[in-house]
Amino acid sequence: MRQFICPACGAANRTPDDKDPLAAKCGRCGEPLFSAHPVEVNAKALGAHRASTKGAAVLVDVWAPWCGPCRAMAPQFAAAAARLQPDVRLLKLNSEAEPQAAGELGVSGIPALLLFRDGRAIARTAGAMSADQIVAWTRQALAPAQARAQSGG
Ligand code: ZN
Repeated sequence: MRQFICPACGAANRTPDDKDPLAAKCGRCGEPLFSAHPVEVNAKALGAHRASTKGAAVLVDVWAPWCGPCRAMAPQFAAAAARLQPDVRLLKLNSEAEPQAAGELGVSGIPALLLFRDGRAIARTAGAMSADQIVAWTRQALAPAQARAQSGG
């Protein structure tokens, strides 16, 4: 059983292991739980995704409209979403609109990527990356956690 937050209404939705989360729709509002694109979040939605996403990781792109490298990376991050979802939920946090949330994440330079599992930050990096680099970095960061989970630790 996995659990994902609906991007449209914020409801937590459980998805059975034999169902593809990419094809699942929200039990409350009927919207798809995933699209091909990362989800734009505010501080509240970010908190909900972090706290209530179960059985999947959460990858946050902290960006700002005035940041050229951030805008250049946006299509790369979107391409990475299509490859990483649903094992990883990709979110975008606008640090200009949500400076407090970005500060609480400890972000100083952007673009910054933060990877969460079970609500905890397990990896972070800064600087523009290609889709290939984002996918490789994320999978590498998740590899030890998955190995521990499989060995029962
Ligand atoms: Zn919904």
